[in-house]
Amino acid sequence: MDGRWVEVAEGVLVRRHTELDLNTGLVLGETGCLVIDTRGDGVQGAELAAAVREVTPLPWRVVLTHAHFDHSFGSQAFEPCEIWAHERCGPALAAGAEADRKAWSEYYREQGRPSVAEAIQAARIVPPTHPVSGPVELDLGGRVAHLLPAEFGHTDHDLLVWLPDVEVVFTGDLVEQGAPPAFKGSWPLAWPTAVQQVLELKPAVVVPGHGEPVDRAFVREQLAELSRVAELCAEVGAGRLDRAAALRKSPYPEDFTADALESVRTNPGHA
Ligand SMILES: [Zn+2]
Repeated sequence: MDGRWVEVAEGVLVRRHTELDLNTGLVLGETGCLVIDTRGDGVQGAELAAAVREVTPLPWRVVLTHAHFDHSFGSQAFEPCEIWAHERCGPALAAGAEADRKAWSEYYREQGRPSVAEAIQAARIVPPTHPVSGPVELDLGGRVAHLLPAEFGHTDHDLLVWLPDVEVVFTGDLVEQGAPPAFKGSWPLAWPTAVQQVLELKPAVVVPGHGEPVDRAFVREQLAELSRVAELCAEVGAGRLDRAAALRKSPYPEDFTADALESVRTNPGHA
């Protein structure tokens, strides 16, 4: 099995996957559990579902942090169940799934891993059953999970999962550890506001979409870097800075900053 459970607070588990250094989550209540993200294809989803069943027999609900394939293409393994997601996640899945499927199956073929490519090709896209348009509280029995739509950032439909009783928040890819944030198709100018929203919760533990769980100090540093990228994008947009200078001044590698500069053209500010 690809992954190991790490308990970040009582009854709050993070599954650390080798593949893409992805995190999925499991929140245990007294009457139900919540699975956060479902991995990248039907095979991976089934592995995750089996790993959850080794921990608990409780009925599950699923919540998706966003529509990207590595977080959402494994949902079929959990059916039938409620699938909660930002109201724009379903449309984003419908619009973006084929492009994700093509790009990532090519990626895995190039990596010499045809079976993963085939599993992505075969994944059945499951639309969310419960679109979220404002804060939602899910009662898991003895504990409540808060689903909070975030400001535009990594996508236009990132959803935070906040557990106030243990001060843990799952951010999806709004926060990344171990690699720079992924800007392709993102909203670089608004992203810092979304991360401020994370910090305003005053979490003790922040579970990023990829990488090790982190603390608030880490998130504050990432916020400063994201703010710097937003500033550089705005400067380039206003014609006060050329692209090469922006790439040089960015806290992130060139290809990441290039994605940010590209994204900001189609996804302008939103606050
Ligand atoms: Zn993502």
